Amino acid sequence: MRAVVFEEFQTFPSLTEVETPEPGPGEVLLRVAGAGACHSDVSVYRVFEKGGPGAQNPPFTLGHENSGWVERVGTGVSERIKVGAPYLVYGPIGCQHCRKCASGLETYCENAATLPYLAVGLGRDGGMAEYVTVPGHHLIPLGDADPVAAAPLSDAGLTPYHAIKKALPHLEGGGKYALVIGLGGLGQIGVQILKALTGATVIATDLKDDARDRAEANGAVTVAGGEGQAERIRELTRGRGVDAAFDFVGASPTIATAAASMAQGGRLSVVGIGTGTHEFSFFTNPYESYVTNTYWGSVSDLWEVVDLYRAGQIRPEVERYSMDEALEAYRRLEAGEVTGRAVVVP
Ligand code: NAD
Ligand code: ZN
Repeated sequence: MRAVVFEEFQTFPSLTEVETPEPGPGEVLLRVAGAGACHSDVSVYRVFEKGGPGAQNPPFTLGHENSGWVERVGTGVSERIKVGAPYLVYGPIGCQHCRKCASGLETYCENAATLPYLAVGLGRDGGMAEYVTVPGHHLIPLGDADPVAAAPLSDAGLTPYHAIKKALPHLEGGGKYALVIGLGGLGQIGVQILKALTGATVIATDLKDDARDRAEANGAVTVAGGEGQAERIRELTRGRGVDAAFDFVGASPTIATAAASMAQGGRLSVVGIGTGTHEFSFFTNPYESYVTNTYWGSVSDLWEVVDLYRAGQIRPEVERYSMDEALEAYRRLEAGEVTGRAVVVP
């Protein structure tokens, strides 16, 4: 079968022929319906260095946002998993024997340092291929919902959902403001989740006009970039600042804009891995405000994301690419030309 393989650090992936995998004990073989191209993949193959933060050793097939139909099951897989039925994949893989894994938060596995890979498509072969094997308990049924548009939910849905859920105490009650910076794959769904879960006014920004237009269509008030941006955001909050900010870029200038826009007691979540830094001292941040980071989400979060999708409250906007065009999806993602999420449909 064909697959998009990350072969070497700091090297663009290749579309190559690989062996179709066999499901091991407890695993399921999926025929891939959709595999989303996440900007984190660009960090994986372009930016990360061997042995450095985030690095997963090549070679492996990319694709950590996957949906598909069960083709075959390995030994010991629950009979509740139905051959032929469509499922969404929960990507992170922890040890399954620690308290974080037991709570469904395999992203924060206490034994992660001892494991051979982080996730499906991160250290272990992912879904940018015709078939992928995944742990059998990592599947969430999609029923009659479109499995291709569902693929981005695995990360571009789950990651903002987790970050927003942790910030909900800051957005309860009337007159609250949320800020979303970076309106690509994650940010657009982030706006939809904020509208679905909170009554907050959502202020959104991106460098691209079309990204801001789509956020407006999803119910956000948008602000252009450039000089005085933080002041304009603050004006929209009648001077108070935002109660929660989500930075889906994570570069130093975006973290600075978010930090300068915060209300007293607000929560700034850095989700983008733009590797920016933030200076903190007694007088630089509003009193009792929080700066934090979040990574992906829990399996129970993902069940809730799928519920929102099936209820029509999350509508991922996807650009579909055939296997032949898979590398083009990454080229366009790097060039900032993708609208919503690029999904490879093998
Ligand atoms: P994307 O390429 O689809 O979207 C990025 C958006 O940010 C684009 O619309 C771009 O125009 C905009 N942008 C870039 N620089 C900007 C700036 N200075 N100001 C305003 N807007 C700017 O990327 P994505 O797949 O949505 O991923 C977003 C980020 O989140 C990436 O850094 C990715 O690696 C990271 N990520 C983190 C996690 C996590 O668990 N923390 C999970 C997935 C992705
Ligand atoms: Zn664990």
